[in-house]
Amino acid sequence: AGQSGGKKEMKKETGLGLSTKKSDDFGEWYSEVVTKGEMIEYYDVSGCYILRPWSMSIWEAIKDFFDKEIKKMGVENAYFPLFVSKAALEAEKEHVEGFAAEVAWVTKSGDSDLEVPIAVRPTSETVMYPVYAKWIRSHRDLPLLINQWNNVVRWEFKHPTPFIRSREFLWQEGHTAHATKEDADKEVLEILELYKQVYEDLLAVPVIKGIKSEKEKFAGGLYTTTIEAFIPATGKGIQAATSHNLGQNFAKMFDIAYEALDGGRKLVWQNSWGLTTRSIGVSVMVHGDDKGLVLPPRVAPVQVVVIPIPFKGLSTDELSAASADITKQLRAAGLRVKEDARENYSPGWKYSHHELKGVPLRLELGPKDLEKKQARLVRRDTGAKEDVPWADLTAHVEAVLADIQKSMLEKARAELTANIKTITKWDDFIPALNEKKIVLAPWCDEMAVEDDVKKRSAAGEGGAAKTLCMPFDQPGFKLPELAEGTLCFASGKPAKKWALWGRSY
Ligand code: AMP
Repeated sequence: AGQSGGKKEMKKETGLGLSTKKSDDFGEWYSEVVTKGEMIEYYDVSGCYILRPWSMSIWEAIKDFFDKEIKKMGVENAYFPLFVSKAALEAEKEHVEGFAAEVAWVTKSGDSDLEVPIAVRPTSETVMYPVYAKWIRSHRDLPLLINQWNNVVRWEFKHPTPFIRSREFLWQEGHTAHATKEDADKEVLEILELYKQVYEDLLAVPVIKGIKSEKEKFAGGLYTTTIEAFIPATGKGIQAATSHNLGQNFAKMFDIAYEALDGGRKLVWQNSWGLTTRSIGVSVMVHGDDKGLVLPPRVAPVQVVVIPIPFKGLSTDELSAASADITKQLRAAGLRVKEDARENYSPGWKYSHHELKGVPLRLELGPKDLEKKQARLVRRDTGAKEDVPWADLTAHVEAVLADIQKSMLEKARAELTANIKTITKWDDFIPALNEKKIVLAPWCDEMAVEDDVKKRSAAGEGGAAKTLCMPFDQPGFKLPELAEGTLCFASGKPAKKWALWGRSY
């Protein structure tokens, strides 16, 4: 065995490091990075995963942020049951058709069959709305603004992937009722903006806001707004979170109406909106590298790891005191700091371990640093190193963390922008997809044409493409002008709008 063979042996011994490169086998890399990075553990029910403290802590950071923001809007948290009766689930026809194939049913208790099977919620519209009908009587009961943090079960047939597509997942689902469509419309976009902030400001993942096509909208709803993210390594789009205006369909079916000011009885307008643990997986896919996870500082459970480097012949007392002191000082500033002074691991092993787990910043403290009263800082995202005097440490660490957060987003945004290709003819479509791009193309907005694009793109290698969204004009993403007479890239009919297409998760 040569040099590399020896290295591989070492990896096996210590269990450290990834054996697959992100660019060689993305699926294998992802699976390794989420397990070795201690995010998840596989489980013996397919599509279900154990969320370890390292990932749960990220979810809690997302939850803290979003929960505070929706409470400012007047939303309150509640908890509704996991089970839904067959009658309620099947009340809204389009809705149940959209979810039927993925619903898990309880059919037995012990050995005896239940008289009527009970469904496990795939989402809670049909759990909550029967009581909304009871709670909403007059215009004074509106708006009704309720959210819950919970789990749902969708027995997905597509290949399960940790965080990205699981059969049980954690999310928040907001369900609100309004007197007017305008009020509901406004909230849909406020929530979409908060979702964008979760992805961009917390997870450092750029997203594109838009509206879903009729084919891709939420089953039973009026329209669906979405934020779409992009995974450069695979060239696929991914639906990052959705905010739906449900219109009055559910209100009709569940008879949710209020006594209006002028005396008449009116149906409410409803919204529902959800963000799931998928968000964690998207951030891992976008930022992770061949050394492991790269966590954005704002959500990293540990932002700085302090590693003292003992040196033969030198007393460890001074080193331990300095290391403990620095840790204390950084924590006092509100930073999440871990001191790794374990004696049974070498500094080199610790470097690899915390790199694998994606800790944004490493602070090394060796004999030379003690002498010069400085510390060495090493960034996880770029590997850049610098020596910083103890006196400046806290302010400097805060500044570097802020810079990591910012540059991770900028780097990902540059990649996203570079991978959106604008085309106008069908002949350019499949080649662009094969170059791992997502594609902006003029579209006639007809469902039959979207079906057709799906079919035609599925025929080749690489898989079918669909609309990700019809993007809004937004900061950071300006839609080109749709000139009069522009034709649909797929049907040749007059184009009505720009649509973003892609292979997707
Ligand atoms: P929906 O209620 O269908 O709009 O779903 C809300 C959000 O959940 C979607 O926008 C996806 O980002 C996410 N999502 C959908 N299916 C899954 C799944 N199987 N695992 C994790 N997240 C999911």
